[in-house]
Amino acid sequence: MVVAQNFDITECRLAQEWRRFEAATNCHIVWLLEPKRNSSVTHYTGIMGHPVGQGQLAHTLFAFVHYAFQWSEGAIVLADIQGSSGRLSTYTMGILIFDMMTHTPDGDSGVSDHGGKGIEKWSDQHDCNVFCKTLDLAIGEDDDEQD
Ligand SMILES: [Zn+2]
Repeated sequence: MVVAQNFDITECRLAQEWRRFEAATNCHIVWLLEPKRNSSVTHYTGIMGHPVGQGQLAHTLFAFVHYAFQWSEGAIVLADIQGSSGRLSTYTMGILIFDMMTHTPDGDSGVSDHGGKGIEKWSDQHDCNVFCKTLDLAIGEDDDEQD
């Protein structure tokens, strides 16, 4: 099994505004800061859409989403996976994955976290690819049924 290696996940920073009013209310504005990138974007998944995908990179990314889901015991689904071409940390050209978001049970991980509905959408739509199967990732509820 040869997974895609021509991609990085973009480094990012969070910057929080600090104002007296926000300190009193415990509400803060937080900015996600990422390096400038190519404006041509490939969408691998949407916020609530998880297509089958074609090619080594899509299969690698989708298996990673499945791995993260299993590792978190069903508490994290990575979504809105998109990328653009750029220079990787290896100084070669490849795809920079940026601006991913998550669905979590409480729906409070950030903007567009649809909570249980987001997790369920992924569970309904994800079709395990060859990488999922090679990694022996569980393929869903049907595996747990005892009948
Ligand atoms: Zn899978």
